[in-house]
Amino acid sequence: MEQLQNQSVFSLDGKLALITGGGSGIGFDIARCMVQAGGRVVITGRRELPLQEAIAQLGERAHYMVNDVTERALLDDLVERIETMYGPIDTLVNNAGINMKKPALEVTDEDFDRIVHTNLNSVFSLTRACAKRMMARQRGSIIMISSMAAYYGIDRVAAYAASKSGVEGMVKVLASEFSGNGVRVNAIAPGFIETAMSKTAMGGDPDRFARAMRRTPMGKFGQPEDIGWAAVFLASEAAKYITGASLPVDGGNSIGF
Ligand code: NDP
Repeated sequence: MEQLQNQSVFSLDGKLALITGGGSGIGFDIARCMVQAGGRVVITGRRELPLQEAIAQLGERAHYMVNDVTERALLDDLVERIETMYGPIDTLVNNAGINMKKPALEVTDEDFDRIVHTNLNSVFSLTRACAKRMMARQRGSIIMISSMAAYYGIDRVAAYAASKSGVEGMVKVLASEFSGNGVRVNAIAPGFIETAMSKTAMGGDPDRFARAMRRTPMGKFGQPEDIGWAAVFLASEAAKYITGASLPVDGGNSIGF
């Protein structure tokens, strides 16, 4: 009996999540874990093929929409279409993000704007589009995929760190503004997670990899599903009194750098 009760607290039981950038990497595993926890998902991305392939693996409780989060004027319409087709969105996961490693003096204004536009400005617009509907229903969970780069001075990611720090600040304000209307807002701050993004960032350089592992007490990269299960937790009833938090999922990076 106790086990059944625990399962129901962590279960997503038909709840619908919108996950941006869900066709690959961390976003795909967030979708996979949410489906495994009983939820339904709509994943987005700019390219149709990876989304179709993801859906084929995730099964009938998963759907996709091709969408570029940087087209901010289209995000209200995206939310409206999803809710018309699949019902109210219970959870928004702002996962889509880009990175670029360059020394700060080589970062152009265009580079900087592109990263901040994708990782921060679009996150605000999509969050606003979902939050107004969630607040009217008096329920919802919004999860931002942030980064430990928001907290530590990691070389060559000035724009990325600025965007993720912005997300972390926004989480606290939105949590405060939305909590009276039943909407929780939290972040997950991943450490080194094995995906295409982190492989590009390491550039196949064994020294860089060794340095990253020296900073990671658990001595290994995390897997995308480690972020997926954290997202399931924050979306579930088990986290019903948690808002405005940033949860590190980083093999211990945050113990000290
Ligand atoms: P990947 O590059 O592996 O995946 C990113 C996903 O986002 C892709 O599916 C991509 O699909 C999608 N995407 C990118 N730009 C857009 C856009 N404009 N509109 C819609 N979708 C987009 O990255 P990760 O899985 O590693 O990263 C996911 C999140 O986790 C990011 O926010 C990242 O900053 C964060 N993170 C990752 C860490 C890591 O070590 N991997 C560490 C800390 C944070 P498509 O190209 O088809 O659009």
